[in-house]
Amino acid sequence: MQDHSNIQTLTPRTFEGRKPKVSVLIPMYNEEASLDNLFHRVNSVIDTLPQYDWEILLVNDGSRDHSLLIAIRLHLSDPRWHYLDLSRNWGKETAMMAGIDYVTGDCMIIMDADLQHPPEAFPLMLDEWMKGYDDIYGHRLTRGKEPWLRRKLSMLYYNILERSTRQPVLKNVGDFRCLDSICIEALRRLPESQRYTKGLFSWIGFRKTSVPFEQEERTEGETKWNFLSLLNLAIEGLTSYTTAPLRIASVAGLTVSVLAFIYMIYVLVKTIIWGDSVQGFPTLLIVLLLLGGLILLALGIIGEYIGRIFIETKRRPGYFVRDYDGTIQNPRNK
Ligand code: UDP
Ligand code: MG
Repeated sequence: MQDHSNIQTLTPRTFEGRKPKVSVLIPMYNEEASLDNLFHRVNSVIDTLPQYDWEILLVNDGSRDHSLLIAIRLHLSDPRWHYLDLSRNWGKETAMMAGIDYVTGDCMIIMDADLQHPPEAFPLMLDEWMKGYDDIYGHRLTRGKEPWLRRKLSMLYYNILERSTRQPVLKNVGDFRCLDSICIEALRRLPESQRYTKGLFSWIGFRKTSVPFEQEERTEGETKWNFLSLLNLAIEGLTSYTTAPLRIASVAGLTVSVLAFIYMIYVLVKTIIWGDSVQGFPTLLIVLLLLGGLILLALGIIGEYIGRIFIETKRRPGYFVRDYDGTIQNPRNK
């Protein structure tokens, strides 16, 4: 167990005369192969925890397979299981955001549908929650079998992210976590439509602690991430979390300008003393290319942020829900 700060006064939770309700939020996209397995593993864990009321919410993120049909079947066969059907594939971040708006528990556990997050860790998390912690995140002991390059790149990325902000970003912490309703409420109040939840979890604060878990291999189906979508997520994470790249661009621009000024004086003095001889084409070319590259990079960085501003100023809803437990959700009724 690692604590974020040294001193955290905790008030154990009490629920006079009623059972605390635990929601489990599971975003799913093309997970038909895992769902039955998931149903049985989760149920075998929550059946041993009758001191809580349970609500399992499957968020169907526009799956193209039979995931929704299976979710409906699970809902009909077990009243603890619910489903939310989004209007299309919005991506995992948005699916989580939709789920966060619909859960009703006193706390919420987020897990993946592919069982890489073991439901057997629920009791550990809930123990910490009952002790008074608000945000209990799963700390991965092993990252599972991941390509070497991807693991290295992901370490590098977290190092950069960590250095560029004041909020600690935790390595080896995924989306497997348990949040108290106070955190859920905080997340609901954030107005932005594009969210990088990993950053937000640490940004909102509250009392945090971790529980270790072994990440399992994905047994059914396949991962939804490829190199490009990971790169996208990485850029999105960086630009939504910190403005450090803008600062880096300014500092780089300043450094280059200072160097260029010194070089200019040198060339000027040299020309005045020894006269002008047309030479130095390679130098010219190198400086031109280097500067051109830097300018394009800086423009690109600025563009990323303007793009984000553009999207946020449209003030669009983050997602649309088609169906919740068999009730069609018409946006007009909202
Ligand atoms: N997921 C989703 N929408 C997407 C992509 C993924 O809801 O557009 C879900 C997916 O069904 C799974 C979780 O997010 O429950 C994690 O996805 P995945 O296992 O593919 O990611 P990985 O574990 O490889 O990081
Ligand atoms: Mg997975």
